Amino acid sequence: MLRLRCEDKKLVLFKNNGRSFYICNDCISIIKESQNNQKDYKKLEKTLFRECKNKDDYIGQLKEILTHVR
Ligand SMILES: [Zn+2]
Repeated sequence: MLRLRCEDKKLVLFKNNGRSFYICNDCISIIKESQNNQKDYKKLEKTLFRECKNKDDYIGQLKEILTHVR
């Protein structure tokens, strides 16, 4: 699981303050897999829109975060 936070409408890793939410391992693998299941992908995107109360390329931002996390 990955603990994230939406700060100024940007996805960031949670750093011990403020409101946070979790992305489960299933969702992480959806993003990591090159052949995305379109339905799961959309569902995840919706979750991110809801958490950030905004629409942006959050999947892209999450991919970026995942490249720095192991
Ligand atoms: Zn999930």
